[in-house]
Amino acid sequence: MIRFEDLIEKVRASNPEADVELLRRAYVFSAFEHKGQVRNSGEPYLVHPLEVADQLADMKLDVVAIAAGLLHDIVEDTQTPIERISELFGPDVAHVVEGVTKLGAIPFSSSEERQAENFRKMLLAMVDDIRVILVKLADRLHNMRTLHHLPEERRVKIAQETRDIYAPIANRLGMSKVKNELEDLAFKYLEAKAYESLRAQVESRRRATEGMIEELKNTVTAKLAEAQVPVMQIDGRIKRLFSIHQKLKRQKIDLDQVYDLVALRIITASVKDCYGALGIIHQTWSPVPGRIKDFIATPRPNGYQSLHTSVVSERGFPFEVQIRSSEMHRTAEEGIAAHWKYKEGRVGAGRDEQYFVWLRQLLEWQQEVRDPQEFLQNLKIELYPEEVYIFTPKGEVKALPRDASPVDFAYSIHTDVGHQCVGARVNGKMVPLRTRLRNGDIVEVITTPGHKPSRDWLNFAVTSRARNKIKHFIHAEEKTRSLELGRRLFDKEARKYGVSAKSLTEPSAVNRVLGEYGMQKADELFAAIGYGKLPARNVLARFVPQGELKETPETGIASVVRRVLGTGDDKIKVSGIDDLLVFRARCCNPIRGEKIVGYITRGKGVSVHSASCVNVVNLLYDPERRIEVEWDKGADPSTYTVRLSIQVADRRGILAEVSSKIAGINTNIRNVEATVDDQRGRIDMTVEISDVKHLQKVVKALRNIEGVLDVERAAR
Ligand code: MN
Repeated sequence: MIRFEDLIEKVRASNPEADVELLRRAYVFSAFEHKGQVRNSGEPYLVHPLEVADQLADMKLDVVAIAAGLLHDIVEDTQTPIERISELFGPDVAHVVEGVTKLGAIPFSSSEERQAENFRKMLLAMVDDIRVILVKLADRLHNMRTLHHLPEERRVKIAQETRDIYAPIANRLGMSKVKNELEDLAFKYLEAKAYESLRAQVESRRRATEGMIEELKNTVTAKLAEAQVPVMQIDGRIKRLFSIHQKLKRQKIDLDQVYDLVALRIITASVKDCYGALGIIHQTWSPVPGRIKDFIATPRPNGYQSLHTSVVSERGFPFEVQIRSSEMHRTAEEGIAAHWKYKEGRVGAGRDEQYFVWLRQLLEWQQEVRDPQEFLQNLKIELYPEEVYIFTPKGEVKALPRDASPVDFAYSIHTDVGHQCVGARVNGKMVPLRTRLRNGDIVEVITTPGHKPSRDWLNFAVTSRARNKIKHFIHAEEKTRSLELGRRLFDKEARKYGVSAKSLTEPSAVNRVLGEYGMQKADELFAAIGYGKLPARNVLARFVPQGELKETPETGIASVVRRVLGTGDDKIKVSGIDDLLVFRARCCNPIRGEKIVGYITRGKGVSVHSASCVNVVNLLYDPERRIEVEWDKGADPSTYTVRLSIQVADRRGILAEVSSKIAGINTNIRNVEATVDDQRGRIDMTVEISDVKHLQKVVKALRNIEGVLDVERAAR
């Protein structure tokens, strides 16, 4: 157990001018306030704040943070108000204690919605004063170390929260020492069986492995000395259990197949020596191709810098080597805490500001995200930026999360590059936008001016930046489209019932109707109609005070209304490709040239059906929602996939004949499946069709083949 005098010694050692009197007073006060309280372990409560303060002293934080560590549980656990802390220890200490108290009151295991909101609060607290989160992390670390004293249920809850929230935050702040310990402890309590079995396996290899590490260290030391590369320190270790566990899970392998169970770490005095040492390592052992990573030239998003390589020893034993300067090492272990400046009492400017830039950006993006699930997903990616490094054709490098797509890459360059991206070339080859990028890929984004993002991109874009930009664009576009759509629908309805323009534009009438719907602007009303939230007819009825609306043949009034509302043709144009608010129904998948009808859906715009669609014919859709639509002749030609179901007699070679016939009329086949039972066979085929005439041609050609009994168009 740590003694207070040891703590004072530690603080003095790293900062001789530290105000230890403040710490002494905080200690005495804390001892007094917590008097008589005991922890679950049976120890006096005071042990806990003392351990937390000690951890903060190890991080070399200032006395404000350390004093706050000593006092952090007082407001929560005793009757002492925060004002008292402020009077006695100053506003800074009180501010940090208050922040920690507030974070403590956040129940993270509640619903996703609450969790997202709480996470936002935590981010805000971090931006406000980073010491709040550092004290909280120290607090959590000690609680995790003593977790075995708690009942099972509480243990699991706290361990889960640690894994979900505190370890990722420590990671993002670059504090790998804290993160690693939190992760390993959480692993132990959350997956006790897996932890125990892995620990036993590693343990059984320990002696042999440690012997090997010793040998490797001696070789490295000798080789580096021989080559006169100065080094400060060489460590060898078996990797952490949780990191091995994750690797086993990710690669679905067992312990014997783990590539680098062992890591050597070489700490040099200068950056130049890092590369020197790397050269020597590669001369001594053969490097594993594709495993050399230069995080010095391209630091990880959390500031981590190091050279990584994997090599195979003369005995065929693979291991990882990490090489970094002592300064990089400190940053790697302590992260943001390594950049603490005593004088300013806060994190310094310049390079260290990156942590704050990240926090602010994160907050900014998250402000727009309303869906809590989306928020938490984004956050996970931002907190664990497990990364691939992607190059532009000019050799610039971008760090992206695992599974990033060319769309993510495009948005990381510029919003407009993202919006206008239509394709990508990866290592010189054209690839679909949904391709997952791999480490070291050279990616060239192909853009077309005026191109717009598609909703489909949300199925594979992973960075919050890309996702938010896409959503933002889609929402804006949807708003415009629904407004336009709503106006047209309303106009059409007014014409149908012969309602005069005057009654629709009279300000008092407009305001009354808006008031009835609780809206401010006419645009909102039209948008609601366009989104399918309000039927146009109901809105119209509110403008006509008494009596029923009566359907009338179109009169001259209509054109007036149209002019007033500023709309033209009331038909909705359908281009081939699904639009944000006009899309082809999946049940019948109409193709260009076919007779079509539209239905306003609730909130998703207009679904376009083939006029012969069974659902339309059977009047499954509310006729009130029906609107006229037509194919947009000006739109770019596009192809549609159509599934054909072909009944054939079981005749040899018929499949080949069907395929060649279709290819003969310039039609692409996407997919073919043939099934044969007794007498008859069936061929299911997906073809690319440009319009209804093309389809008729294909069907006719197929019917002419001997042995083809029937050709049917199947639902998509
Ligand atoms: Mn505590």
